[in-house]
Amino acid sequence: MAGILFIISAPSGSGKSTLVSELRKQVSGVDFAISWTTRSPRGSEENGREYNFTTREEFERMIDEGVFLEYAEVFGHFYGTARQSLEEARNAGHDLLLDIDVQGGAQVRAKMPEAVSIFVLPPNPKVLRTRLRNRSRAEGVVNEAELYRRLSEASKEIENYREYGYILVNDILDRAVAQLEAIVLAERFYRNGEAIAYRSRRVLEVAAACLQMNAHERLKPVLEAFGIDGRSGGQQLLFGEDQDDD
Ligand code: ADP
Ligand code: 5GP
Repeated sequence: MAGILFIISAPSGSGKSTLVSELRKQVSGVDFAISWTTRSPRGSEENGREYNFTTREEFERMIDEGVFLEYAEVFGHFYGTARQSLEEARNAGHDLLLDIDVQGGAQVRAKMPEAVSIFVLPPNPKVLRTRLRNRSRAEGVVNEAELYRRLSEASKEIENYREYGYILVNDILDRAVAQLEAIVLAERFYRNGEAIAYRSRRVLEVAAACLQMNAHERLKPVLEAFGIDGRSGGQQLLFGEDQDDD
């Protein structure tokens, strides 16, 4: 049975990695593609676990050799998904989850239109700023320039939400994890006819509510807060005073 390819994208700090790791604890048969990157390891990251870390020269050689299904330059570093991840998941009959940026998401959708794409949003700019700052503190390095760079990109990345089939607002973690799990189970049900037991109706309802076409009401305040769809205000919240971040 062919596995399902899930693409998950979000502005940095939205909680995508947290959601993915919670999902993988609860749902079996989902492989995670460990990307290649030229950025340095952060905090407790280990080579071969969160990422395969490499040099720019090696990454460029891999591009020339056609190793990547997709790759992009994000925040001044290369990130890419090796084709091999897809082959391994296929051979194992597993689904595969790609945590990639919006540029990579567009490349994969063009090659594999059957992929299921999920965009994760933070509830508002202030929460995003707090999460990014708290993560940096937990990792023992607060790099203001890097924080600024990631925040500056957030609104631009969010503008791409329309390209994604499902939208998650990661406000309360447990709820967002349950929604992500429901999307995976619902897609397995629709595509592979996989049973989802007594919870099935509820799971299908939760997943359907996350479809982009059904998410407008929930999305509206989030987009407004980020100054998207013709309104302003997001930038001020992103870069405003920091007094209540602790
Ligand atoms: P991303 O992978 O999108 O860059 P992370 O998963 O690293 O983001 O999350 C950024 C920070 O926010 C981490 O410190 C994480 O523990 C925290 N976080 C993630 N989701 C939530 C949530 N729903 N509520 C509160 N904090 C969260
Ligand atoms: P971070 O440095 O915070 O781990 O990731 C920065 C951004 O790079 C995130 O948006 C993340 O989704 C993206 N990213 C991680 N791996 C890949 C990849 O293999 N390809 C692409 N295109 N983006 C990636």
